[in-house]
Amino acid sequence: MSDQSTLVTHEHFAYIAARTTPEDPFLADLKRAADAENIPPINIAPEQAAFMQIMLKLSRAKHVLEVGTLAGYSAIAMARALPPDGRVRTIELSPKHAQFAKSWIARSDVAGKVEVINGPGSDILPTLADLSYDAAFLDADKAGYPFYLEHCLRIVRPGGLIMADNAFAFGQLFDANPTDREAPAVKAFNEIMAAESRLQSVIVPIGDGLWVAVRK
Ligand code: MG
Repeated sequence: MSDQSTLVTHEHFAYIAARTTPEDPFLADLKRAADAENIPPINIAPEQAAFMQIMLKLSRAKHVLEVGTLAGYSAIAMARALPPDGRVRTIELSPKHAQFAKSWIARSDVAGKVEVINGPGSDILPTLADLSYDAAFLDADKAGYPFYLEHCLRIVRPGGLIMADNAFAFGQLFDANPTDREAPAVKAFNEIMAAESRLQSVIVPIGDGLWVAVRK
């Protein structure tokens, strides 16, 4: 540790979570319903949602792209941070997850502000126009992150925000033999982000580690 850094422990995580506006009953219900449908319980943490909302508001984002909808939790959270004419377009590979997210978004307070696209990010991202988004959030298959990032660098305007989830590799960043098959891909992506000169970026130790970057 140097320069007055404090090691973030489980105790700090709990402390931060206890002092963040809790998720509303709708998102809590969404998580329970997703569990019941055997959708993996890997939604972003409520305090991470609050942080991302603050970042989107500060950057005055209007058009947001998400890769990896899962159950729609983060898309709904992000849409709530946008102005009335703001939109989240979110890409989901799994038809089941996309259908679940669509149904919950339709009855949410941000119905009409979120568009779910079912398909592979690797097919859809190349079809999006240059400089057409103010912000992007990557939360999908980790092996795909380098390709998604390359397109986000093209799609997101200068001064725009690029965020990527799970920089801590589901808690296994420092495991010599991680059980999570995506941990090596996360490590490789973290090195790409660290070396990317087109971004100013930092890993925020919230949730499972969140890359937050500004497009230069
Ligand atoms: Mg994630």
